[in-house]
Amino acid sequence: MSSNVSNTNAFFDLETALTAIENKISQLAPRSSIALPITEADNHILAEDIKATMPVPPFNNSAMDGFALSLSTNPDSQTFTLVGEALAGKPFTKTIAPKQCIRITTGGVLPTWADTVVMKEDTTFSKNTMTLISTPEIGANIRKKGCDIAEGEVILHQGTRLTPAMLGLLASLGIASAPIVSPLKVAVLSTGDELQPSSNPLQPGQIYESNRITLITTLQRAGFSVIDHGIIPDDPEALQTAFTQASQSADVVISSGGVSVGEADHVKTIISTIGEINFWKIAIKPGKPLAFGTIKNKLFFGLPGNPVSALVTLLQVVLPSLRYWQGEKAKKPTLMAIINHPIRKRAGRLDFQRGIYRRNDKGILEVGTTGSQSSGILSSVARANCFIPIPRESTGFAQGETVEIIPFDKYLI
Ligand code: AMP
Ligand code: MG
Repeated sequence: MSSNVSNTNAFFDLETALTAIENKISQLAPRSSIALPITEADNHILAEDIKATMPVPPFNNSAMDGFALSLSTNPDSQTFTLVGEALAGKPFTKTIAPKQCIRITTGGVLPTWADTVVMKEDTTFSKNTMTLISTPEIGANIRKKGCDIAEGEVILHQGTRLTPAMLGLLASLGIASAPIVSPLKVAVLSTGDELQPSSNPLQPGQIYESNRITLITTLQRAGFSVIDHGIIPDDPEALQTAFTQASQSADVVISSGGVSVGEADHVKTIISTIGEINFWKIAIKPGKPLAFGTIKNKLFFGLPGNPVSALVTLLQVVLPSLRYWQGEKAKKPTLMAIINHPIRKRAGRLDFQRGIYRRNDKGILEVGTTGSQSSGILSSVARANCFIPIPRESTGFAQGETVEIIPFDKYLI
């Protein structure tokens, strides 16, 4: 092992590791931004604050189906003659005489002479004459121009991940494209002589490779553009070529396998030849051997090969770091749930147990683990809908304790 690697023997806790990664990222060039049509901007991160270019609603309009009239100029009148109508999209533009009114539908433009809308249900109507059953307050049932959003107001903040409702908000303001942070390009590769693609027959001693599909689809759901660099054997020359090419094709290189201290674990040595390793041990379980470093001005994450460890470290270390680099502000929310069985663990590492939470018949969230927590058992994650983090120095939970959970439901991110 080169001196570059052995200097980095620190056993970081998760927070320290994340801070070290953020410090490295702050030394890299900030992300550039591009304008994307809103039809393509879902799930991207806003590069700038967005201000309303107009008030919403853009004009005073009716909140109800009914009749528009002027109560202030007809204070004692109970009956009004109908002289026209204002439908949504078809304004009534004429002036009217005293004791007259028009029919108006929800969203219809309120004429300037009108100060009130009377709900249809509060009137009777025959032969073009509308009679008030009860007299409303002046100003009733009107949605004032700008009552939802004032012109110039910041409606979406920089660092926001765009959602379908937000895109609708932009459309409603006549904003057809949005400034977004250029998505990071992420190269993914798997290492191991024993790994076969699922489409090939297995030879003795081989296993099917499963990390790439999980890592790639998780990263894609998180909005990154991913380049698949395949399966690389445990051969130093092949690995060096693959890592060099991967770092040239992307902003971030993520590998899995080969980062421990076994005979075939070449990854750290190779990265410290073509770049540098900053740390490679992190006090979380699963996922202790996790190498972080740089290859020139690109980030490198060497995840452990065990499928559960690879996924947990991707979710807990890589994704928060990449989101930070993309400028995403929101932190992932957590929930509290009552644990329905005791959990024991050894002090020393922050444990991310895989759990299933549900609402019990009292309407309270309850959580239990998915059973065996061995880091080779991917089905323990496939069945789970949350992580149950157990703090580094804790020795577990008693049944009935209220604990924090990190829900992921259908989406692991
Ligand atoms: P390693 O970190 O390379 O020592 O691998 C640890 C364990 O994870 C070994 O049993 C490997 O066979 C397995 N493993 C490594 N990479 C993968 C992968 N991409 N897909 C499935 N299993 C893997
Ligand atoms: Mg290996």
